[in-house]
Amino acid sequence: MMEGEGDGEEGIGEMLVRCMQSLHARGLITGSGGNASARLGGGEEILITPSGVYKAGLGVGDLVRMRLDGEVLEGRRKPSSEWRMHAEIYSGREDVNAVVHAHSPFTTGIAIAGRMIGPITPEVALLLPDVEVIEYACPGTEMLGRLVGSRIVGKRALVLQNHGVVAVGRDLLEAVTSVEVLEEGAITTFVASLMGGVNVIPKEEVELIKKVYKR
Ligand SMILES: [Zn+2]
Repeated sequence: MMEGEGDGEEGIGEMLVRCMQSLHARGLITGSGGNASARLGGGEEILITPSGVYKAGLGVGDLVRMRLDGEVLEGRRKPSSEWRMHAEIYSGREDVNAVVHAHSPFTTGIAIAGRMIGPITPEVALLLPDVEVIEYACPGTEMLGRLVGSRIVGKRALVLQNHGVVAVGRDLLEAVTSVEVLEEGAITTFVASLMGGVNVIPKEEVELIKKVYKR
């Protein structure tokens, strides 16, 4: 789907654009929803997607370079309305260099129904066991930012009740992969539940997967 990003700002920007195009093509965001960012140089600056621009038609020139304290450094657009959520995550997680927020319909729907995505496939069991669903908070607010920032400690992803998902990673590829794996797990769970029942991978087999892939 996507090749590895370059280290420079330009490479990261191109990767952000491709990330949003890919999420849109897969139905994980609409043209107006979702956002993504990447940390620049391992510090206090990030490159983030803008608000008010159709996400599938995004260009590198639409991205906004800003500081974690909210100061915009470069860009002709306004930063994503969820920039506080991104900033809170980066502030609390030195290991995180990329944040992806999508409105994944199956993952979100399963959470709304009060169901969990268990270890239904080896990939889910390995990467995203026990993903927490956090309570609803109004999008774009400081409250949502603080809530996500405090609850994502030590995790790869969270489900935001009645809203979507947020995933983090050492790079964009890692973060977007978590969004995809979670949605695949949600679709598989949905299909299994319609067709007769959700049988997860047994506990000892989950342990074996973790051992084989050293996690
Ligand atoms: Zn959202």
